[in-house]
Amino acid sequence: MRYCRFDLMTGSCYRLVELLDDQETVTRAIDLPIERRQRATPQETLDLDPVPLMEAKLLAPVMPSKIVCIGRNYREHAREFGNEPPAEPLIFLKPPSSLNFPGGPIRKPRISRRVDFEGELGVVISKTCSYVRDEEPVRPYILGYTCVNDVTARDLQKADSQWTRAKGFDTFCPVGPVVSNEPDPWAGIELTTRVNGETRQQANTRDLIFPIDVLIRYISRIMTLYPGDLIATGTPAGVGPLNAGDLVEVTLEGIGTLVNVVVDE
Ligand code: ZN
Repeated sequence: MRYCRFDLMTGSCYRLVELLDDQETVTRAIDLPIERRQRATPQETLDLDPVPLMEAKLLAPVMPSKIVCIGRNYREHAREFGNEPPAEPLIFLKPPSSLNFPGGPIRKPRISRRVDFEGELGVVISKTCSYVRDEEPVRPYILGYTCVNDVTARDLQKADSQWTRAKGFDTFCPVGPVVSNEPDPWAGIELTTRVNGETRQQANTRDLIFPIDVLIRYISRIMTLYPGDLIATGTPAGVGPLNAGDLVEVTLEGIGTLVNVVVDE
């Protein structure tokens, strides 16, 4: 299943993304067991026409109660800032107010001199998840996977003893364009980040230091995960600065490409 969240004049709805005549197309509205705020009424979604995905005005496909991020979860990235890979997952939060939509502008705050892209695999939670036991499978808790750009004010991250400010600006969490449960990150999903068409990050989710089952168990023993919550699983080596006018793309093989532009505040 592949789906997006679609903008309607009166609210939003989740809709399937399917191949019609070899073209990715936004088709019928679906019910998902996740956050329902702002949802359009069923009548409003009954006679929606199919729209080519490329032309659709999409919203972030998640409305999470929280965004849990993982730091230093690829060896080469940990080392590019002189850190050893951590002994256990390093987690932090981005506020839901940082969410940004496919095509949305990433606003570079005036108080930062260096704002970086971080292409990542995002995991969307399907049902309430608390204290997942060692032997319990995690796949039932996963609704699907999506592209995330964990935009970071690198200079503020270095200046502060924690990362809330550096990671938390409005527009600093682009997500989308679709959520898909089709690829298997344990088997490996290729992750590529490009800036103005030039490849800057290339990695495979097989190389996560802490795979998704370990992350879900670890997080669920600290905080309850709710339907629609988002886990950003960490970025590979190659992070770098963004400037106004840059076009940044995060591609996950079999899922799609998240495109955003950078603007000055
Ligand atoms: Zn990150």
